[in-house]
Amino acid sequence: MTLVMKFGGTSVGSAAAIRQTAELIRSCQADWGPVVVVASAMGTQPVKVTDLLLQGAYAALAGDEATCLRVADALRQAHYETIDGLLAPEKERQQILAENQQFIERFAALCRAVLVLGELTPRALDTISAMGEQMSVRILAAYLREAGLPAGAIDATELLVTDDNFQSAAPLWAETTAQTQARLQPLLDQGIIPIVTGFIGATQTGVTTTLGRGGSDFSAAILGQALAAQEVWIWTDVDGVMTADPRLVPAARSIPVLSFREVAELAYYGARVLHPKTMRPCVENDIPLRIKNTFNPQHPGTVIVREAPAGNGSGAMKAVTAIKELSLITVEGRGMMGVPGIAARTFGAVARGQVSVLLISQASSEQSICFAAPAGATDSVLAALEQEFTAELQRKDIDRIWALRPVAIVTVVGAGMRGTPGIAGRIFSALGREALNIIAIAQGSSECSVSLVVDGADTATAVQRIHELL
Ligand code: ADP
Ligand code: ASP
Ligand code: MG
Repeated sequence: MTLVMKFGGTSVGSAAAIRQTAELIRSCQADWGPVVVVASAMGTQPVKVTDLLLQGAYAALAGDEATCLRVADALRQAHYETIDGLLAPEKERQQILAENQQFIERFAALCRAVLVLGELTPRALDTISAMGEQMSVRILAAYLREAGLPAGAIDATELLVTDDNFQSAAPLWAETTAQTQARLQPLLDQGIIPIVTGFIGATQTGVTTTLGRGGSDFSAAILGQALAAQEVWIWTDVDGVMTADPRLVPAARSIPVLSFREVAELAYYGARVLHPKTMRPCVENDIPLRIKNTFNPQHPGTVIVREAPAGNGSGAMKAVTAIKELSLITVEGRGMMGVPGIAARTFGAVARGQVSVLLISQASSEQSICFAAPAGATDSVLAALEQEFTAELQRKDIDRIWALRPVAIVTVVGAGMRGTPGIAGRIFSALGREALNIIAIAQGSSECSVSLVVDGADTATAVQRIHELL
């Protein structure tokens, strides 16, 4: 009956938040028995520790020592203030302060190395950005001990074995399962609560890796699979998965039940509340996933299960989300018609640059293919395509390859949309009334989502108008 619970950045973002988190851990352990906790780096706006660490690393690369020093100060302030506010001087305060200080000194030393070498490898970035979680778990575990709960901080570098794809590492499942069980089960058997770093892992040779931004949710699901957990709970700062990002749409409502597929679509298309890779270990092992609010624990939040009731009518549309800062790249030319292999070569060239494509749309006349990619990759994608199609461009089979930016993808999600006619019509009319231009459209074959590409400046309005239909 193991329960894996992940606490996000805000849930460990201050002394007050950690006290609240500790209460939740206490009551869940009383109800469930064995509990494994995964924690993110401290992250209460304006100080998000992972952002700060990365900011420091990039400043070092740019030779900006002043910013590195400022970042180290901000890290000290956030952690020391929390430690002082939580831990009694006669107990573990000095010890935990010293441990946190060591990490911050190591951060400063790594920044100096980057500054001198003028080089910042993905591997170094992972070592630097992993430190936020390494500091927060030590604070949380010490506070739990002070509050009378047996807890131990664990670096996931001891549990989660990954490949060496730094910054977006993938777990090696067999090794991870063996190491996680060997390390955590004895603790659980003794009634100790492991407080594990989210976000990070290590290669087989022990080099620190990270799972990608927002990856602590994925860490929880990985541990859930490795321990055959009964459930995985994600504690965050909102009442579960909502009909839209409440920061964009204040009227957004919490959704009680969603299917794995629906949440996967939402997460993939920008709903930050869950990392898109979280769902797979849960769905494959039939582990229910709950999203709950640390600051409003009475609220039931959202439960994510294999099959969720599909709404009908407008209720078929369950949530709307957006992903910004993209560009829409188009390859077009009359000479492309009927020529086999253009699409394969287009996406082959994009993939060689390690750029991921978020949406594809092709006109039936085959005179153009367009796709959305991160705006930051635009120039490299255009260059790769121009190189791939040099001959076709010279022959004028391809007239031009161009990018429109910034654009956003706005996605409406709901499994019931499949059986409900007129959904697209309703969405288009809502945007039409605003005279808002839809640049491209794509619908997944699962019909679980409909995505529209709009001008970046129209993102908020598009999300708000569509939300009024839900
Ligand atoms: P954590 O640190 O707990 O992982 P995140 O900031 O990563 O927290 O994710 C929670 C945030 O996700 C919320 O504060 C909210 O602004 C944002 N969010 C975006 N889309 C949604 C959505 N559909 N439902 C709920 N929250 C959303
Ligand atoms: N701290 C990491 C990040 O900010 C991981 C997480 O919060 O899930 O990306
Ligand atoms: Mg998150």
